[in-house]
Amino acid sequence: MNLAAQPRFRLGVWPTPLHDAPRLREALGGEERCPRLLIKRDDLTGLGLGGNKVRKLEYLVGDALRNGATTLITAGAFQSNHARLTAAAANVAGLRAVLALDGDHANPPVQGNLLLDRLLGAEVRLVSNGAEALDELASEATARGERPYVIPVGGSSPIGALGYVAATLELLGQLAELNENPSRLYYAAGSRGTQSGLALGAAIFRAPYRAIGVIISPGEESKRPKALSNANDAAALLGLDLQLSDNEFGVLDGYMGPGYAQPTAECDEAIRLLARTEAVFLDPVYSGKAMAGLIGEIRAGAIAPSDSVVFLHTGGSPALFAHAARLATL
Ligand SMILES: *Cc1c(COP(=O)(O)O)cnc(C)c1O
Repeated sequence: MNLAAQPRFRLGVWPTPLHDAPRLREALGGEERCPRLLIKRDDLTGLGLGGNKVRKLEYLVGDALRNGATTLITAGAFQSNHARLTAAAANVAGLRAVLALDGDHANPPVQGNLLLDRLLGAEVRLVSNGAEALDELASEATARGERPYVIPVGGSSPIGALGYVAATLELLGQLAELNENPSRLYYAAGSRGTQSGLALGAAIFRAPYRAIGVIISPGEESKRPKALSNANDAAALLGLDLQLSDNEFGVLDGYMGPGYAQPTAECDEAIRLLARTEAVFLDPVYSGKAMAGLIGEIRAGAIAPSDSVVFLHTGGSPALFAHAARLATL
């Protein structure tokens, strides 16, 4: 397998910490009722306030530089962590960044990720559909004499998925040091690049756990086959003769609430509980709902207390500030 041969531009600080959450475990019933909880801190990936996109962007920027790109172009919501980290990656790699951001407001508050996009100096375009604007923005950049490199929403492509193949290797090394064989790994599943990488990594390196993506946005019917094909294409990039099957893509539904970025009581409770037990900040769009899913499973007795479980914290805390008015009353 040729993972080390893939173009990669260093953006993060590795490995991210993996640590116990004893006070959270206590709050969830202690050793009698709650498995050992290990938090993999991919909110602390080291670039521009961190998050899971840094891992994908190392390979995407590596590919962009190999192609002689001068400008990264991507799309997302106003509070997109991916857009913020693409802007951060562009600065570190000496590239320009153009962000096509969409959302409900005509005039979104310049807070959280949107504020950081401005500080990073990215060109921000407020559009009605970010993904649809990508080609046009690429043509504009070409007309200006730049060489655009388009990164799909969430950085979820076969190349982006390599980030979580590498992350799997990193995590398994840390688990070996702890002598732990967790039965499950929970994380927030959005555009599914993380899922593709985790599923492929788990298959390649024979991870002991099943990776379970807590669904935080709609579109499972189209996202699932896409995650599968991206994972298989990533395997081909690595020169592996390996076909994953659909049942290797674990998901947990029931914690999204009314829709993407819509508040839920369970998510708010998870944000509050993690802050007050472990001083870990979750976010209201992704990691809060993922943790709500894990808490729900523990309370339902779905995980044996003798097991251990990994919670992959994918980041997102800047979005807390965009929801300050509501969160202040938690
Ligand atoms: C993007 C994102 C996710 C989801 O990752 P995907 O690869 O898009 O599924 C989870 N958590 C946070 C904080 C994110 O920004």
